[in-house]
Amino acid sequence: MTEISRIVIIGGGQAALQLAVSLRAKRFAGSVTLIGDEAYLPYMRPPLSKGFLKGHTQAQDLAFRPAAFYVEEDISLALCKRATFVDRVAKSVVLTSGEMIPYDVLVFATGARVRRLQCSGSDLDGVMYLRNLDDACALHEKLRDADKIIVIGGGFIGLEVAAIAAKDGKKVKVLEASDRLMGRAVSRDISEWFLTLHKQHGVDIELGSGIKEIRGQNGRVSTVRLVTGSEWEADAIAVGIGVIPNSDIASDCGLIVNDGIVVNENPQTSDPNIYAIGDCARFPCALNNELTRLESVQNAVDQAKLLADSIVDGRRPYKCVPWFWTEQYDVKFQMAGLSSGHDEKRIVGDLSSSAFSIEYAKAGRLIAVDSINRPADHLRARRKLADELIASSRSQFSSA
Ligand code: FAD
Repeated sequence: MTEISRIVIIGGGQAALQLAVSLRAKRFAGSVTLIGDEAYLPYMRPPLSKGFLKGHTQAQDLAFRPAAFYVEEDISLALCKRATFVDRVAKSVVLTSGEMIPYDVLVFATGARVRRLQCSGSDLDGVMYLRNLDDACALHEKLRDADKIIVIGGGFIGLEVAAIAAKDGKKVKVLEASDRLMGRAVSRDISEWFLTLHKQHGVDIELGSGIKEIRGQNGRVSTVRLVTGSEWEADAIAVGIGVIPNSDIASDCGLIVNDGIVVNENPQTSDPNIYAIGDCARFPCALNNELTRLESVQNAVDQAKLLADSIVDGRRPYKCVPWFWTEQYDVKFQMAGLSSGHDEKRIVGDLSSSAFSIEYAKAGRLIAVDSINRPADHLRARRKLADELIASSRSQFSSA
């Protein structure tokens, strides 16, 4: 890539920040503009459902970099500004204010937004979501004042919230629509282990539960009614039922979108001057050879670094090992690789203990390792999976 003097990034989160930082670290000399619709300097989201919700981390500690960094590195921050349209012919981003920002290269790092409940009563006061700092502040306040908390959705974020509330002495009930916890991302063994863990901490978990409606009193939530007819009282409801990638502007300007902005391994969209990284992008994953969209810090950071390298030094494909973590009670759970589709597993340690790993293989090849309170296993797994990725790229290259 040559002759690029203006890079515009839509989004002010993990991927956008990393791309801006990496471009400057690689001495990209052109302008870098980051358009973000939130009112804050780019900040870390993972602590929102961990240290921040517990009250251990303060809002000012979440920013990746202080304001002075952006001035020193000559990164233009357009905060509280929302991109609404991309004119691909004029190569310009249109903001809600009408302002137009021209680009040579445009990057979507727009992340994702929460999926909202659609049932009656879902707009009552006390129904809370968690995606950004404003959500986290509101949820923190509501949880503090509530005694009976219902968490709708037994995914990572719902369960992190449930763990914090239960530790705080609240009466917590988790309602999960599917037949197991964190089912989109983890194996059945891990789902069951976490089910036991939460029950041991007094959390009541109901699997296979569909929400019929939420009822309220004086505009505030009071009960959740399930399709089975059972009813549960609640002072606050935390909803974590997944996210929707922010890809509307990309589809409006004619880019290929399919549950995320579709990119190639570079990660370039169907327009050669436009890229997409992080939660909003669906990319060909080198580990499973499928078009994949990941919602993780690892993916946002590694895709951003790869793109900065590509812009400054020339193209190279995105081949990284996905990894993720969650913290619930005193448990740190770390995943390396993607276990979905495994046909073999090996337990390292004891499943009934509080520290073990599970290795997953497919067609005789290691594809993932889940580790509970065994960080050394996790790091080893990441290295091993990365070595295998490199080896398989070399063999593909030599046989081409
Ligand atoms: P985001 O960080 O979501 O940033 C996107 C930004 O773009 C947002 O600020 C958004 O408002 C802005 N934006 C969107 N559209 C526009 C527009 N049109 N104009 C201007 N700005 C726009 N990952 C882990 O690996 N481990 C964890 O433990 C973990 N915990 C998490 C806990 C919580 C509560 C949340 C919400 C996420 C967690 N994640 C975790 C996921 C991780 O934070 C995300 O994968 C990561 O932030 C993705 O980065 P991103 O830049 O793609 O998107």
